[in-house]
Amino acid sequence: MKSRNIRILKFGGSSIGNLARIRCVAKIVTQAQSEAAPVVVVSAVGVTTNAILEAADLASRGDKGYVEPLSRIDEKHRGILEELASDEELAQLSRRLEDAIEELRELARGAQLLGECTPRIRDRMLAFGELQSAMLLAACLRSEGVAATDVDAREILRTDDRFGTAKVDQRVSRELIRERLPGSGGVPVVTGFIGSTASGETTTLGRGASDYTATLLGAMLGAEAVEIWTDVDGVLTADPRMVPDAIPIREIGYEELLELAQFGAKVMCPPAVEPARKAGIPLRIRSTLDPSLPGTLVLGTLPPDPYRPVRGISAIRDAALIRVEGVEAIGVTETCQRIF
Ligand code: ASP
Ligand code: MG
Repeated sequence: MKSRNIRILKFGGSSIGNLARIRCVAKIVTQAQSEAAPVVVVSAVGVTTNAILEAADLASRGDKGYVEPLSRIDEKHRGILEELASDEELAQLSRRLEDAIEELRELARGAQLLGECTPRIRDRMLAFGELQSAMLLAACLRSEGVAATDVDAREILRTDDRFGTAKVDQRVSRELIRERLPGSGGVPVVTGFIGSTASGETTTLGRGASDYTATLLGAMLGAEAVEIWTDVDGVLTADPRMVPDAIPIREIGYEELLELAQFGAKVMCPPAVEPARKAGIPLRIRSTLDPSLPGTLVLGTLPPDPYRPVRGISAIRDAALIRVEGVEAIGVTETCQRIF
């Protein structure tokens, strides 16, 4: 029997920011199941990552105020779990969540006592966000009758030890991923953003890197498509805060998307485009707020449209242009270096 096509569905923090949104996501995953074998990738719930960074920062200054953002995280996750887990699972999952929160508090406490939070400890703390959101979404799917298992990406993404911006060892990871996914536990719900070193230390791949986890899995599993689910209707022709009548771009090339993203468009994390581009896997950027919309399809290189020669405009704010001129600079080496 031919195995079903794999489709990666990645959900960002705002798409799973509260109970209602998580339920919408569960519906989208259920729907995808009728068309392909979904592999889900998640970011941390809402503002969890920022709250952990806030706690880590306070702790690194010896400030006991770190307990406050951690309590906020605790409350938020507990609230969601209590609402969405089935009665049979609630006790066991609550214990898991409690253990994870406890570990997070201990790590922060250690950092606070030392008055130092190393990148290594910070990554351990940050992993909490994605580990819990994967657990929550998998539990939500099961409570809706869909078999699902949360997968800790530290078991399948091998990285170097540049904590905070770790680089993935593609050769080792590919093998681990193919061994493990899609797997037999129903829909895998994989933690974005995190990985681990050969010696098992937790690493993170850079802010916003859950997108990268998604396209990397897509490339390694030969997925038919990678869907990036967010809270906008795809890539827009301009920043809607500056241009209120900006409209979604239906189709765009990988390079064009990269260019827009690099110059300020906040649709997806720029390094995430590369694995998809290299493997020629179509990317779809879609909105969890309105799944009926087509979103934006990112694919190959599109021929220029003579009627609409500009695909989109993005902007970097608060930038200055400095112009340096003078004939004396001609032929002088290291001019740029010295100017910078
Ligand atoms: N939770 C991580 C962050 O906020 C990763 C992600 O959202 O993609 O940067
Ligand atoms: Mg994100």
